[in-house]
Amino acid sequence: MEKIDLHVHSTASDGSYSPEELVALAKTQSLSAIAITDHDTVSGFAQAQEQGKLMGIEVVPGIEISTKYGGPIHILGYYIDVNSEKLKPVLNWVVHDRDERNRKMAEKMAADGIPVNYDKMRERFGEVIGRPHFARILVELGLARNTRDAFDRYVEKGQKYYLPRNFLSIERSVEIIREAGGIPVLAHPFQYKLDDNGLREIIEHCMEYGLMGIECRYSGYTPEQSGYLEALAEEYGLLKTGGSDFHGISKPDIRLGDGKGGLEVPYEFLEKMRNTALTRKNLPK
Ligand code: AMP
Ligand code: FE
Ligand code: FE
Ligand code: ZN
Repeated sequence: MEKIDLHVHSTASDGSYSPEELVALAKTQSLSAIAITDHDTVSGFAQAQEQGKLMGIEVVPGIEISTKYGGPIHILGYYIDVNSEKLKPVLNWVVHDRDERNRKMAEKMAADGIPVNYDKMRERFGEVIGRPHFARILVELGLARNTRDAFDRYVEKGQKYYLPRNFLSIERSVEIIREAGGIPVLAHPFQYKLDDNGLREIIEHCMEYGLMGIECRYSGYTPEQSGYLEALAEEYGLLKTGGSDFHGISKPDIRLGDGKGGLEVPYEFLEKMRNTALTRKNLPK
C-alpha cells in the first residue's frame, strides 16, 4: 500500500523541519505523498513542492486554521490556491494579531529578566510564531525541562506569561478555504472532548458554510475511533482524510507517516480529495 501523510507542520509555522527536509524525510520513510498543513500560513508550500518534484514525492498544498467554537477547533484546508488574493488579507490579519500578542508576551518575560527578544524571534522563526516557540526558547535557556513543562509553568492559560489572541471565526475559516479553491476539513475531531451530539452539531454547522471533509485517521486514534469517524463522514457525504500532525521535536512522540505507531492513511483518501478539488476548480464559482 502506498503510504501518505496529510497533516504535517514545517518551520513555516511551529514544526522543526524545513519544507525541504520534510520532503527528504518523507522519501526515507517511503511515503508517496505529504500535505504541508502549517498553522495560518501557506509560505512553506512552494519550497516543499520544488523539493517534491526533485525527489518524486507528491506535495499537497494545505493549511490549518485555529478557530474557536465553544472551545478550540482546527480547520484544515487542502488544495487551496496558495496565491489566492482573497486568502492573503485574511492570513495577514491572523499573523498581525499573533505578532501583537507575541510581542507583549516577550515584553512581559523581558520585564522579569528572561532574555527574550521578539525581533530576534521573528528573524529566527519567521512570521507565524506562537507559544510553542516561546516554549522552545524557555527550554534552551534552561528555564524549563521540555515543551510540556514550559507550557505548564509559563505560557499555558492561567500562567504568568500567557496572553490570549484573537481567532478567525469557524464560519469564516471554512468559507475562506472554499473561496481560495480549497477543501475545508474538520481536523482531529477527538481532540475537542465532544460527545456524538456535540461533534454532529459542529459538523452540521460547518457544512452550512461549506465543510467538505473529516480527518478520520490521526496519531493515537484507535481503529474503532477512526471507524466511527469514517462512518460519520460517509453518513454526511463528506471526504475522509488522515495525517500524523508531525511537528518534529516539539511533538517528539509523533513520527512522520506513522504517527504514534501504526498510522495508516489510504492513498484512496487523497485520490478522492484530489478529484474533488480538480472538479471544483473546473466549475464556475
Ligand atoms: P498559540 O497559537 O500561540 O496560542 O499556540 C497554540 C499552540 O500551542 C497549539 O497549536 C499547540 O500546538 C501548542 N500547545 C498548546 N497547549 C500546549 C501544551 N500544554 N503543551 C504543548 N503544546 C501546546
Ligand atoms: Fe502546532
Ligand atoms: Fe491542530
Ligand atoms: Zn496540526
